[in-house]
Amino acid sequence: MAQKSWLPAESATLIEEIETTLGRLNDPAAIEARLLGLIDDHERHMDRESIGLNAGTNVMNPRAAALLSRSLGNRPSLGYPGDKYEMGMEYAEEIEVIAEDLAKRLFGAPFAEIRVGSGALANLYSFMATARPGDSIMAFTGEMGGHVTHHQAGAAGLYGLVTHAVPFDAARMTVDLDRLRDEAKRLRPKLITVAGSLCLYPYPVREMRQICDEVGAYLLYDAAHMGGLIAGRHFQAPLAEGAHLMTMSTYKAFGGPPSGLILSSDADLAKRLDQIAYPGLTANFDLGKTAALALSILDLLEHGEAYAAQAVANAKALGAALEAEGIATHHVQGRDVTESHHLALPAAPHGGGQSASKHLARANILLCGIGLPVAPVAGDLNGIRLGTQEVTRFGMKQDAMAGIARLMARVMVNAEAPEQVRPDVIAFRQAYQTMSYVR
Ligand SMILES: *Cc1c(COP(=O)(O)O)cnc(C)c1O
Repeated sequence: MAQKSWLPAESATLIEEIETTLGRLNDPAAIEARLLGLIDDHERHMDRESIGLNAGTNVMNPRAAALLSRSLGNRPSLGYPGDKYEMGMEYAEEIEVIAEDLAKRLFGAPFAEIRVGSGALANLYSFMATARPGDSIMAFTGEMGGHVTHHQAGAAGLYGLVTHAVPFDAARMTVDLDRLRDEAKRLRPKLITVAGSLCLYPYPVREMRQICDEVGAYLLYDAAHMGGLIAGRHFQAPLAEGAHLMTMSTYKAFGGPPSGLILSSDADLAKRLDQIAYPGLTANFDLGKTAALALSILDLLEHGEAYAAQAVANAKALGAALEAEGIATHHVQGRDVTESHHLALPAAPHGGGQSASKHLARANILLCGIGLPVAPVAGDLNGIRLGTQEVTRFGMKQDAMAGIARLMARVMVNAEAPEQVRPDVIAFRQAYQTMSYVR
């Protein structure tokens, strides 16, 4: 088998090892047993024996998760409800309408596009609806939590857009509005995007919309991470504050299936998005995910406010507990450590963002590196990002945050071997195995 010469050395070695082992397995039953065993191990490790603090993930309501395996997910569904290309769709098309209606209700949005496979595709669809190849857009850079989809290597660049930086006020961790106005007048972008993969504080959406109106640009709020809080009426209300479009992933704080969602307040944009979805790029979409999305939205309609409030309270408590343990957080001086479920730590004292994350993972404490507006760390990310959405759904309240901070400090401050801390992490998790905020 050909080796991918462009992969990092450690990836190439791992893949070769797995393929070598697999090569010895000729019996389909043995391969199947391996596959199913790996799934069990993965779920035990991540869902029951680890403290999940990666902001970009969550656990699903098991009743919604079960819908992902129903046969409706592998039936194609092309065209409008009531006018499907396929026959036999009279039940399925009602599911589609229900999901779309619930999404609009949840966000108080006139239009929702549910036929989007991921947050990245939601951004691509939004770029296609607002700009042509060769046009300029403006987006957050890496030090502001900007996402690859907004840049050259991602959806924006692959579609042929030229991305310019949204000017950043690093000390206040927000958009520099005066410089944005000047730059936008000079660059005439078709679209300005706001928010990214780290959002400690709400952004000045109203002021940005005003700048967009002055230069004839659309405003896109990327709520990949904040969708769950926004659904729970926390953080901010981007559409009401003036964003034309709001995209999100539905599997992060939102807590739903691995999919995407676009909300819009503008009929022209909604029509373009509709045509991009069908007959454009979506063709078939997974109705199993659509059904799971509908059930997840019912959870958020009923429990979303309490879930969002607890996730934010937990993040504030975790930030305070980490500081008390001698682990500094990165936040705006004079403000709370966070106003969302996200927290950021400067990574330099801990050897770099990904390096520290890999070290903590050996203690079953799961989180990731992130870019921060601080000095770079050579060969690594300069920040560490935490999110409290998953531990909140597993029922943890503020009192549990001191316990998490202590376990982290044993590895990060006291330099205990992570393997030695790991049994205590597993024991700590035992008390939090049932899911809250689900119907
Ligand atoms: C995660 C993320 C995305 C991509 O979402 P997927 O659903 O994983 O494709 C887009 N934008 C931001 C800011 C993100 O953090």
